Amino acid sequence: MHSTPRTDDPPVLECRDLAVRFAGDSGEVCAVNGVNLTVRAGECFGVVGESGSGKSQAFMAVMGLLAENGRASGSVKLNGREILNAPRKTLNAIRGVEMSFIFQDPMSSLTPFLRIGDQMCETLIEHSKISRDEARNRVLEVLEMVRIPAAKRRFGQFPHELSGGMRQRVMIAQALLCKPALLIADEPTTALDVTVQAEILDIFAGLKKHTNTAIVMVTHDLGVIASICDSVAVMYAGRIVERGAAEGVFYDPQHPYTRGLLRSIPSITDDPNADAQVIGGQPPNLLNLPKGCHFRPRCENAMAICAQELPPLLERKPQHFGACHLEVTP
Ligand code: SF4
Repeated sequence: MHSTPRTDDPPVLECRDLAVRFAGDSGEVCAVNGVNLTVRAGECFGVVGESGSGKSQAFMAVMGLLAENGRASGSVKLNGREILNAPRKTLNAIRGVEMSFIFQDPMSSLTPFLRIGDQMCETLIEHSKISRDEARNRVLEVLEMVRIPAAKRRFGQFPHELSGGMRQRVMIAQALLCKPALLIADEPTTALDVTVQAEILDIFAGLKKHTNTAIVMVTHDLGVIASICDSVAVMYAGRIVERGAAEGVFYDPQHPYTRGLLRSIPSITDDPNADAQVIGGQPPNLLNLPKGCHFRPRCENAMAICAQELPPLLERKPQHFGACHLEVTP
């Protein structure tokens, strides 16, 4: 686990009151509801939550990649410049250059009928206006940075000739080509086996050490957060319910939902036959969010006020925020 965020480094990404709505046949789905966060240069920021918590949609909005029926509001600044709902031309010039995205499924971003090296060179030449020889050297450099063995041979291969882990490395390399200020990775290890997961996380740890790129790691896996993130935001029903340095969130969680997530991590000392301590119940219907705290139907600490008032996200310990009506314990 890592140290506290570097609060004197400049913000790379700032989201203020970010909200995302989807129009559907049954009404409007409130997928993201007023997210505020700052990610600084050199910081690895984890965003964790169950499926449907809004964590991926918040960052699809940041990238300008929402589905047709999605609408984003609020503010998203990249290096101080407003980019939320920016024109397509502006976003096309930023994506892959100032900010890059790594998806869970590498095949969704690799062109199947182009050789790895060729598609990477095309991207680089398009954005950087450099010669083919310079592009080839940079591509080989990033392939080596993500520890692809025999990089020169891989350069001439097609995506289907690579294993899942190798394809994920190529996608990370592709995302790094133009030295982006911000790298957003959405469940980058979920589809991989445990050994390859560890290797990919080690590559991210190397990036943290050797570059000043701000990394956002979107995941349902607290183990991923624990291994490389400096800070973490826990999302539930489209809102951040807890945010702080990863160490504080892990060792002194301020929200019952975070405590539930932590209890659901299997321990290597657990009896393998014992039931995992999953959080009971289901997340609320985002078409019709209940009054009061959205976690109340699943919360073992719920009180009368929880049915009436939505708890605001307040600083409960220094630089550690929680949205819960429970008193802060000393
Ligand atoms: Fe539980 Fe109430 Fe806190 Fe919500 S506000 S998490 S219901 S104690």
